[in-house]
Amino acid sequence: MTENMPLLDISMLPADGRFGSGPSKIRDAQLEFLADTGSQLMGTSHRQKPIKDLVGEIQDGIRTLYNLPDDYEVVLGNGGATAFWDIACACLIERKAAFATYGSFSEKFANSAKNCPFLDEPVIYSADFGNYCLPSASSDIDTYAWTHNETSTGVLAPVHRIEGANDDALMIVDGTSAAGGTKINPCEIDVYYFSPQKAFGSDGGLWIALASARAIERAQRIESYALSHPEQGRWIPSFLSFTHAVTNSRKHQTLNTPAIATLIMLKNQIDWLMKNGGLDWAQARCAQSAEVIYQWAQNVEYAEPFVSKKSARSTVVVTVDLDESISAQEVISALRANGIVDVAGYRALGRNQLRIGVFPSVDTQDVIALTQCIDAIVTALKDENNALN
Ligand SMILES: *Cc1c(COP(=O)(O)O)cnc(C)c1O
Repeated sequence: MTENMPLLDISMLPADGRFGSGPSKIRDAQLEFLADTGSQLMGTSHRQKPIKDLVGEIQDGIRTLYNLPDDYEVVLGNGGATAFWDIACACLIERKAAFATYGSFSEKFANSAKNCPFLDEPVIYSADFGNYCLPSASSDIDTYAWTHNETSTGVLAPVHRIEGANDDALMIVDGTSAAGGTKINPCEIDVYYFSPQKAFGSDGGLWIALASARAIERAQRIESYALSHPEQGRWIPSFLSFTHAVTNSRKHQTLNTPAIATLIMLKNQIDWLMKNGGLDWAQARCAQSAEVIYQWAQNVEYAEPFVSKKSARSTVVVTVDLDESISAQEVISALRANGIVDVAGYRALGRNQLRIGVFPSVDTQDVIALTQCIDAIVTALKDENNALN
């Protein structure tokens, strides 16, 4: 590790140095909105009109953003996407699910189902990290699950109904880092769930699910059967009850107390996205920022995009491998010393890698500046190493 970090000329630094893949950059305007509205809303009951109105506006905003059909509902609860995996195991998977895994997040959901004592062993289709696959259809599968954007590897998978699946099978897609920065057709699937601290640029702790009537009905059926047949051993803690979440969401509430600041910042981000042109705009902006990095990585001799297949490359989380002669860890530390943070690769992946969140809140100009800063740091580190040798 270098003792003296190369300090870059302030004029070359991005205006905002937050490039995390979640938590991610929260815009100044969101924080100002929080300060402005917070004194009326923060510290007040989520069972009263002002917060219920806020939740209702968030639900309406998401409905408009995704152009949701009338029979889909915006359901929300506490615990983030991680909690939703256990909710899905408890209430949405009937017996047997098929998963596609191609990174840490997709694996975690599959593991939840694997460890669930009252579900059958799931079928798992996996692709090498840096690529994706989808689950294949089979008549004994009642639920199909995969991840839209695998945040650990920077891979973007398609979102559509699995061809050949039973008519009543549910499609459940983890949209956590894609939602807000990537378009989908929600009618193709039954549940699209996400946390707001990624492309929605808010804070963590919440999950939001766009749920079809079919998914809501299935959960009701499974939960009422489990309740009346305790001998079957399907225990559904009320915190994991999807039906409780639906009932509360219809009243613009959550089962237990939410973080109100998260809701306030989320509301502001939804309004900002809509004002700018919705998901079409967000997707184009993210793709442009991502392309800056992919092009740069292809052009410099010491870097290359980790995801080789272009059609699998994420437009919201970009992963770049560095040549072995350059320590990604040193580059990351030097960037941090210059106020550019959270560009480390996913730890479990264990590669000499940078991972850059280019969510809608991130300015493309800042992404360009980031690539120039990385170049300058790599040059400085090389000079230093040469001087030592
Ligand atoms: C971040 C992330 C999660 C976990 O979200 P939490 O809010 O921390 O539970 C799950 N899936 C994906 C794809 C993610 O990027």
